[in-house]
Parts: sequence; C-alpha cells; structure tokens
Amino acid sequence: MTRDTTKKEVVVIADDDPTIRKVMKAALEKGGFEVVDVDNGAMACAAFAQHNPSIVLLDVEMPVQDGFSACAQIRRLPGGEAIPVVMVTGRDDIEAVDQAYKAGATDFIAKPINWPIFGHRVQYILRASHDYQNMRRSEAKNEVLLNAMPDTFVVLAADDEVTDFIPGKFDCPLPRPGEGDVFVGDFLPENVAKAWRRASHFVSKKGKPTRIEFAINGNEDRVSHYEARFVPYVDRRTLVLVSEITDRKMAEQRIRRLAFYDTLTGLPNRQAFRLQLGGMIDEASDKSDKVAVLYIDLDNFKRINDTLGHTIGDGVLDAVARRLSSSVRNRGQATENDEVPAGVARLGGDEFACAISGFDDIDVLSTIADRICEQLRKPVPYKGHEFVVTPSIGVSIYPEDGDNVEDLLKNADVAMYQAKDAGRDTVRFYSGTMSVRSLHGLALEQDLRKVVENEELELHYQPKLDLRTGMLVGAEALVRWKDEDGKYIPPSSFIPLAEETGLIIPLGDWVLRTACKQAHDWDHAYGHAPRIAVNISSQQFYQSDLQQTVMKALFEAGARPSLLQLELTESILMRDIEKTIRTLEYLKSTGITLAIDDFGTGYSSLSYLKRFPIDTIKIDRSFVMDLEASNDGATICAAIIAMAGQLGLTVIAEGVETTAQVEFLRSQDCDQMQGFLLSKPVSAQEYEQRFLANPVSTFSFESAG
Ligand code: C2E
Ligand code: MG
Ligand code: MG
Repeated sequence: MTRDTTKKEVVVIADDDPTIRKVMKAALEKGGFEVVDVDNGAMACAAFAQHNPSIVLLDVEMPVQDGFSACAQIRRLPGGEAIPVVMVTGRDDIEAVDQAYKAGATDFIAKPINWPIFGHRVQYILRASHDYQNMRRSEAKNEVLLNAMPDTFVVLAADDEVTDFIPGKFDCPLPRPGEGDVFVGDFLPENVAKAWRRASHFVSKKGKPTRIEFAINGNEDRVSHYEARFVPYVDRRTLVLVSEITDRKMAEQRIRRLAFYDTLTGLPNRQAFRLQLGGMIDEASDKSDKVAVLYIDLDNFKRINDTLGHTIGDGVLDAVARRLSSSVRNRGQATENDEVPAGVARLGGDEFACAISGFDDIDVLSTIADRICEQLRKPVPYKGHEFVVTPSIGVSIYPEDGDNVEDLLKNADVAMYQAKDAGRDTVRFYSGTMSVRSLHGLALEQDLRKVVENEELELHYQPKLDLRTGMLVGAEALVRWKDEDGKYIPPSSFIPLAEETGLIIPLGDWVLRTACKQAHDWDHAYGHAPRIAVNISSQQFYQSDLQQTVMKALFEAGARPSLLQLELTESILMRDIEKTIRTLEYLKSTGITLAIDDFGTGYSSLSYLKRFPIDTIKIDRSFVMDLEASNDGATICAAIIAMAGQLGLTVIAEGVETTAQVEFLRSQDCDQMQGFLLSKPVSAQEYEQRFLANPVSTFSFESAG
C-alpha cells in the first residue's frame, strides 16, 4: 500500500471544550494536518467514516457518546482497526488510561496539554503507527518466503548423526557427502549443538514438531540468527529446516528500541523507565530497601526552543542527557562507598527522570541531585553558542511517598513543581518524606519566623488598568521581605518556605489585615479606592478557617467586602471541589470578588470553571510573554479571552510589558491588564502619590525594565 504524499493527512479531533478544540486545531494545522473537529463521540465516528483520517484524538468525557465508546466503535468500523486512536485524558486519571487501552486506544495524551510539543507528539504517534504497519507487512511477507523455501535441510538420526542434508544459506561448515560420519557437535558450537540434540530427542520421543532459535558468531563479529524447525521424519529420524532470520531479529530489535528508547538522546523512554522502576520497587520490597525517583525538568528550556529553533533545542537536550547520565553514573563521589544502582530516562520534552536504589542515607540523594544541578549549570557549547540550562528537581522515595510507580512519579513531579515555585535551579523532596527545612538551612526559616512574628513584612501594590476606559480598577497586594541589607527577597523564594513551615498562615493573616486596612484608609481618603486583590495560598484555603479570617480582617478594618478580591490558583479549586464551591459561595455572598490567578498553567479547563462562583480570571504571564514570540501564545490568549467573555467573566492579562501586547489584548477585547508597562508593584506611599492623589491624568505607561 502506498500513501499519497502530496495530500494532507486528516486528523479528527473530538472534544466538547471549544477552547481546547480551537487550540488543538491551530496546533495541528500548523503541523501540516487537515483537521476535522467535532464535539462529541458520535460525531467522531461519523467523521471517521466520512473523512478516512490518519489519526483520531478523543476527549474522554463528551456528551451524546463518550470517548471510550467512540474508540471501541471506530475499531469496529471498516479500516478502523489499524489507525491510531489517541485519548486525551486528565493527567492523574490512571483508571481512564486503563479503560482507554481496553477500548482499543493506541496511546493517550495527558491534560493539561503541553501545547508547544503537542503537534510533534501527534506526528510521532502517527509515524510510529506507520512504522508498525510496515513492520507487520514485512513480517508477514518474510513468513511466506520462509515457509516457501527454508534455506537448509538436515536429517538427523536418533544418535544425532547427520544422515542427509541440502545446503542453503546456513553459515556453518556442514559435512560434504561421503566424508564419513558427522554429528551435530562437529559443525555447531557446543551450546547450539546441545539445543539441537534436546529438540531432536523431543521430536523422536513425542512425535511432534518443535522449533528453536539460535545465533552463530560469523566473521567480523557478524552475528547471524537462525530458526531451526524440527519435524518427525521417516525411520524415527528428525528433519531439521534451518532458515536465517537475522533480518527479522534486527527488525524486532529496532522495534524494541523504538518502543523503549528515546530516539533523540538514546536514553530509555517513559515506558522503559516505568518498567525499570517497577522492577526496582519489587526488588526493594523484598529487601525492605528504598528507591528514589528524581524528576528533572529543565528551567526555561522552552525559551531556547522558541527563540533558536528545535535543532538547537535538540542539540542542547542531547548534551543535557549525556551530562545527566554521567553525573548519575559517576556516583563514586556521592559518598565514599556507595555503589548505588541508578537509571536515567527521558520522559519527554525537557523532562528527565532518574531512579536510584540501594542507598542507605538520604544525603546520598541530595549529593547526587546537587551534582546534577552543578553539572547542568555549566554552559553547554553548541555550534558556536553557549547555553545555560538549570534543572528543577523533585524527589520522591519508596515506600514513604508511594508504593507504586505511578504514585512515585506523581509525587516526584509535585516536588519538582515546588522546586520551580521556589525559584528554579533547585531540589525539593516530596514534603511527606523529609523536612524541607533541613535543605534550606534553618537560618532562613528562623529569619522568616521572626519577620512574620514582628510584622516586619511590607505590602506593595501593583495597579490594574481597564483596557477600554484607561481607568485604574484595582491593585494587587504583593508581600515583600526586606532583609538586613535592605534588599528585597522575592516572594518566590520565601512563600514556598512559608508554606512548608506553616508560617504562611500568620503571614497570610497579616497580608489580609494589612490589605483590608489599606483599602479602608484609601476608600476613606479618596472615595474611589481601588479594589485590593490578595493572593491566597492553598494551605490558607484548606488549613485555616479562611471565611472567618477574611471576615475578621474586613470587620476590624471597617472595610466593605466589595473592596477585597481574593486570588486563588487553579490547584486550589481542583483539590476538593465540593468544599471549595461551598467556601467560595459563602465568600462571594458577602460581596467579596474572586479571581483565578495564573490561569492556564493548571489543570482546569475553562468550561469547568462554570461550576465555581468566579468573577475574574488572570491570564498567566507566560502566555502574555509569548504573545510576540510564538503563535501559540496568541492563540491561547485569544481563546481564553473569548471563552471568558462567553462565561461572563472579567479577564485580566498579567505581566504586560510592551505596548504591542496591549495592542493585541485590546484587539481581542481583553478587559484589564496588569504589568510592568503600567507599573511595577510599589509601596503604599508611592501608590498613593502616583495613582490615587491624581488619578487618570497622571497615568502613563512606563517602559518595562
Ligand atoms: P502572582 O500572584 O501571579 O503575582 C504577580 C507576580 O508577577 C508578582 O511577582 C509581580 O511582581 C510580577 N509581575 C507583575 N507584572 C509583571 C511584569 O510585567 N513582568 C514581570 N516579569 N513580572 C511581573 P512577585 O511579587 O514576585 O510575586 C510572585 C508570586 O508570589 C505571586 O504571583 C504570588 O503567587 C506570590 N505572592 C506574592 N505575595 C503573596 C502573598 O501575600 N500571599 C501569597 N500566598 N502569595 C503571594
Ligand atoms: Mg496574584
Ligand atoms: Mg499571577
């Protein structure tokens, strides 16, 4: 079968979330596909029958017919058994993944979708499927040929004497006719001869055929593979049909390599890593040992890819892979005598993982992780450029943080995100395992505790602007910690510590009280006070009585609830949905407004948000930053703005730094903006002078810096 290479390959996508569909479609069309998109499973089956696509992508939950049932139905349609069907599932939904495979899915893509690599992922799945089909065809062809003309015939007597033969391609010095008695041991290596004898005895005893495979080392290290089929022959003899199967063996190995190894770096892939980790866990459980998973994600790698292209990106990944392998393998330095078994794999994109067992002290892991950071931090020279890539590493440990592959990987991933939150280029242990305090050193924690207790933190304010009227509409309160030298320590390095140590509760209380008081004072003084937005961390949300804390802060300050907005992250919403909805509904009923911070970086889809009583969503800075660099940023921002509009939500773009970004946001009808272009976060005093004492007329964009 040949494919028409001039025609575009068709992809059918089915998802009931129009945003996802829109972004998927844009990504795939950019990758050269023709896209047919539908919003339910039944339509997907119809589209499959009509458009004869090369690949189908199905969301799991859809109205009319869900993804599993659509997948099973497509498999039953003519031509449906061979094409790749990919399920798009929630990242944590292992059950759905299982069910997808049962329904006949070829692969799955986890949500949230990693948009920059999405198109490539689909292309790779398609390519692997083509390769697999070709392999199946060539195997079938081989088999026909093999059956039609096995290369060599040998007839063996009961005592293994060769009584007859027809030479073929068999690369062994078979006896010539009339050369006297010859036994299998005379022309086969001893291990192979043994297998022949066993097979021929089996045949003469049971009267049934059997087969063996064996390899012979030929000249110049060439290994030839053979299959020998032993069948009962006349006079209690055995007929052996020997065929060469080297090509088939090689093809099998190639397929294995493709299935288990990453083609770019040659490292084991995710699939192989899971198998290896599973094996290590089994072994460790027998010996009550520990196994650690290091989840390694490169910081800001996307920037290299986006600005310098994939070729350079690939080169850097390859170099990183080699450094990673050598920092782990070169483990003699970790402690004096640790022979720690370890394996490195590339999980995909810029994500790597390492499994380590046989260590008796957690310090060994810190040492290895630190060495990885140190090795990767050195500039990577590539084609005349030099790149610096730093890793964020999350560590989980068996059995404390999970007793199976999935949990360990998930928790190492969680810890990796904590490392990212803590400012990147750092290591975090999954908090269940190990007190993070010991990693940071106690000093920082003690300092923070003192500052929180003495209320020596500061609150800065960053204004938000209405993009249509040009009026200020509010301010975000951002906490600041000035150290003894008068330098500000960024929140990204102490908020995670505050969360890990529980200090976030008194810290968050202080921020709320201060913001409410400030809102009240400004309201009193100017009568047009900005609504002040306060960031709420997930611990504050779940571990304290947030409703009471908030109401108390408002009451003590004498501030109206409408002066306060709370910024929550997607991960807060998704943690305990029912409880969250109850809490939010209460807060909202008092007049407080609610915003989702950093939208787009988490797990939720926009249509999901309908369930929460939310007023505003804040498009994450990373998408706004990407507006000029890539099409994806623009597609994502436009889709979020359009959908938010339909849901009646206010949209604010975070991190706006250029007028070009403002132009784009205005063209898409985005409601509000916040960012350095307008102003950095400033002290209360400066905010008052610049934005309240003289509103509107004094406002002008300052250049970002
Ligand atoms: P966030 O809530 O997303 O806050 C916006 C962050 O982006 C702020 O960083 C702000 O300074 C920065 N930003 C704003 N506009 C621009 C821009 O145009 N360009 C760039 N490059 N950055 C911009 P900041 O103050 O360092 O805060 C970082 C994060 O720390 C916040 O992200 C928030 O998650 C957390 N945080 C800050 N204050 C508090 C707090 O009082 N409580 C809690 N729980 N978290 C806080
Ligand atoms: Mg915020
Ligand atoms: Mg934000």
